[in-house]
Amino acid sequence: MINSYTLSKALLGRARAVIPGGVSSGNRANWTPFPLYYARGDGSRVWDVDGNDYIDYVLGRGPLILGHGEPEVIDAVCRQLRSGQFFAGQTEAEIELAELICTLVSNAEMVRFCNSGSEAVHACIRLARSATGREKVLRFAGHYHGWYDGIAWGFSGVDVHPDGASFPLPMSLGQPSSDASNIVAVEWNDSEAVANAFRTYRGEIAAVITEPIMFNGFWSNIQPFEGFLRFLREQCDANGALLVFDEVQTGFRISLGGAVEHFGVAADLSAFAKALSGGVCLAAFAGRKEVMKRLIETNTVHTGTYNAYPPAVVGALRHLTLLAASSGAKLQRIHHQTALLERGLRDLVRQTELPLLVRASPGAVTTAFRAAPTQVINHRSAAEGLDFSLQRAWHLAMQDRGVRITPEGLWYVSAAHSATDIAVTLDAARDALQSLSS
Ligand code: PLP
Repeated sequence: MINSYTLSKALLGRARAVIPGGVSSGNRANWTPFPLYYARGDGSRVWDVDGNDYIDYVLGRGPLILGHGEPEVIDAVCRQLRSGQFFAGQTEAEIELAELICTLVSNAEMVRFCNSGSEAVHACIRLARSATGREKVLRFAGHYHGWYDGIAWGFSGVDVHPDGASFPLPMSLGQPSSDASNIVAVEWNDSEAVANAFRTYRGEIAAVITEPIMFNGFWSNIQPFEGFLRFLREQCDANGALLVFDEVQTGFRISLGGAVEHFGVAADLSAFAKALSGGVCLAAFAGRKEVMKRLIETNTVHTGTYNAYPPAVVGALRHLTLLAASSGAKLQRIHHQTALLERGLRDLVRQTELPLLVRASPGAVTTAFRAAPTQVINHRSAAEGLDFSLQRAWHLAMQDRGVRITPEGLWYVSAAHSATDIAVTLDAARDALQSLSS
């Protein structure tokens, strides 16, 4: 039952001599028992180099919402690679993809393409500053908006001083402290804190940026309070700031029209990545024409050698077209399978004495172990009482039983996950919980 990871271990040893930690993205180092090496992916499954196979709920950390190796996406990418790799010029597919996004996402009147969610967020913030002539950005503790210096303040929480003033904590060493003065970070779902921030920094806040559902942080998948996103919209309107939705997680996952459709609240600008592209490297930002046009009518710069890389654009176009076909039938299937998984996991919660918690949004489930019974509404409450050692043991126990989830306990669901996959997963989860309780 327990997998062997011998070849992965040998590769990791070799990698560590030339790649720090043997990984190219810091969070991959958190894997249990150590970072693994992978050989193949197909549909809902991946295989590591030791030949262990897994039902995959990591899905590239979200992008592979149709599963690994969707044939139509792969064909489109290969055809484009053969017919012309890259022009540093425009392609018609780029227009088609922008048009499709504008059709699906109601607040997207214009779109620009880039390569990662971090870049898309960076561009939204630059545009908001350009449009308002202000520098401060209001963001929420524990939300993740990429790793760039300017915004990666407050991900690790806020430091509250005895006089009540709060200061955002940097995510990383190496971030210039001068950037902190441009960030106002408050707890999410706290309308009073938002209103206070606008009062304290009257006329200084360029934008409020939020994950519409708090996917990141300690125990993700936290929903906004009823009316909270609308309150942000109203506060931005009343104070001349722009509302930015970081839809890197929610976009094309919770709904084809993203959070704007799901919650019925329009943002001025939105950042997209992950489920936009189906596993090719593409991201986008979109929003109101009047704001987006600043990219050409003012000296608000957005450039990039690989922006709208044609193989990625045609792959994303095919992917998004498939996702949107038949009134979003594939997305409905993903939501249905997510609900199946969530229900099964909730049944297991009733059967175990371990403090297993389950949350879900359309397209993704989260599991965590947490003894403290307080309501989880934001970064501060999410961090209380989490049992990280049980979380790590659970991650490994699931992996040993052929189920691959993220170490933080976020499970992405794809259209390729079958009812059998979910049933096998739940059997593995039952067995894993039994092994952890004994
Ligand atoms: N914003 C959110 C909400 C994310 O979850 C992420 C990544 O997980 C990012 C931004 C950064 O995206 P990327 O990793 O593509 O730079």
